[in-house]
Amino acid sequence: PKNADESAAIIEELSQTFHVSLAQMKTISEQLKKEMQKGLNQEGATVAMIPTFVSGRPTGEEKGRYLALDLGGTFLRVCEVDLCGNKEFKIRQKKYKVPLSLKEGDFCDLCDFIAECLGSFIADLNPGGSILSTSSTHDHSTTTAGSSSSSSSSSSSSNDSTTNVNNNSNAAPSSHHESTVQPEQDKYQLGFTFSFPVFQTSINRGVLKQWTKGYSCTNSVHKDVVEMLQEAFLRKQVPVNIAAIVNDTVGTLMALAYSVPETAIGVILGTGTNACYYEQMKDIKKWDGGETATDEMVINTEWGAFDCERLCLPLTIHDRKVDRESLRPRQQMFEKMISGMYLGEISRNVILHLIDRHILFDGYSSNDLNKAYCFDTSYMSSIELDDTPDLQETRHILEDVLSIPSTSLTDRQLVKHVCKMVGLRAARLSACGLAAVLKQSNLVSAGCTIGIDGSLFEHYPDFESNMMQALKELFGPYIAYKVKLSLARDGSGLGAAIIAMLAHKNA
Ligand code: ADP
Repeated sequence: PKNADESAAIIEELSQTFHVSLAQMKTISEQLKKEMQKGLNQEGATVAMIPTFVSGRPTGEEKGRYLALDLGGTFLRVCEVDLCGNKEFKIRQKKYKVPLSLKEGDFCDLCDFIAECLGSFIADLNPGGSILSTSSTHDHSTTTAGSSSSSSSSSSSSNDSTTNVNNNSNAAPSSHHESTVQPEQDKYQLGFTFSFPVFQTSINRGVLKQWTKGYSCTNSVHKDVVEMLQEAFLRKQVPVNIAAIVNDTVGTLMALAYSVPETAIGVILGTGTNACYYEQMKDIKKWDGGETATDEMVINTEWGAFDCERLCLPLTIHDRKVDRESLRPRQQMFEKMISGMYLGEISRNVILHLIDRHILFDGYSSNDLNKAYCFDTSYMSSIELDDTPDLQETRHILEDVLSIPSTSLTDRQLVKHVCKMVGLRAARLSACGLAAVLKQSNLVSAGCTIGIDGSLFEHYPDFESNMMQALKELFGPYIAYKVKLSLARDGSGLGAAIIAMLAHKNA
């Protein structure tokens, strides 16, 4: 083993390489802003800056009943959203497990499955058969209500009660709602959250570029997924019009904006990271879609791709290794230093590095710890939260979960230090992203609320306060009174429904 001085020097050097200084934060946020402008000017830029065709701002007074669909990695989620006005809403939802065979089969079959799930959901909503019946035939056990009276809450979400998942149905329904073809005005309007790379040509037209998240359906890449799903609704006589295809950042923005009208930016900090904001049409130089009804539009930045040229992000050898061994090397570099998918893996690599230098665990790893991605980002949260005197929770994760034979208190303290370094760096880099968007949208002095969704923001200890601290360093302490960070749940339910409402209103 190293002597104490050598160990201390190695740990100090490591801490230095993970520290993001104020000067670095300034460089990174300025570079990102430049890249965002490139993306607004031309197609094919690193930071894609995709126009979303969403242009309205909700007031919270909207009323009506809408549907939302969210096709995720494991589940299809179907929601009915009642916008009640007065910033209040009700959501009923059901989840259906997507069978593996459909994720790899013909896309038409997946569309038929989605149509059947939706048909059955509607039939359950309206046993009497009237699609838009407002008479209360609802099963209230799966109905939740949300409302907000606060207009500038910080991390406490006013929408807490809306996420009520009914997990009872994991299988495809066998029957669908029996109906005749509905007149257009009687159809439900639906917002479809489809978080895969699409090229959008209107609010409800999106051509699939490629599959991710374990999907590899045939007969779909380069095709319009909305058109194909709409055809399945017709085949299965499901009386629903897909009013909008929704990116999850935009859903997040809208979900919070319904109760907090000052919301101007939507951010995801979960498995991946991304952000959207309102941009002036005149500054979207690449726009060739003709006249628009309003002078602004929500831009999906796709900031996760920032700096794949590696001009300014402070990559350590550990980041380079994680990138090299990842599915898509040299892509999504910003995301790889920030998001939940990668933080645990970066920490694992740092821990292995310290083991190899005989600074941790007497130089021994375990078979479990040697496995890529075995150190989940949620373990980092648990370790950072562990304030027992002898770090019992940290011991449990290292010894019981990851099978390290024995750990000393010094080992556990060092592992906690590694997690803190990696987590703090992620929060400071996320703040650089926010700084770039705030400047680009001229909201630094005007102020706004930023709606943020994702487990990293919601659960990682001090992530929010570390982001705010970094913003204060960048802009001065007054920024904390101007810019509010707020947890924004349910972008793919409430948010997608609001976008369907806006799209239908403008159609
Ligand atoms: P998604 O972004 O896929 O919709 P989430 O927002 O739940 O879903 O993000 C999932 C990611 O968050 C995973 O990478 C996971 O490791 C990470 N994660 C889950 N729980 C926690 C936690 N308690 N603390 C930090 N990260 C977490």
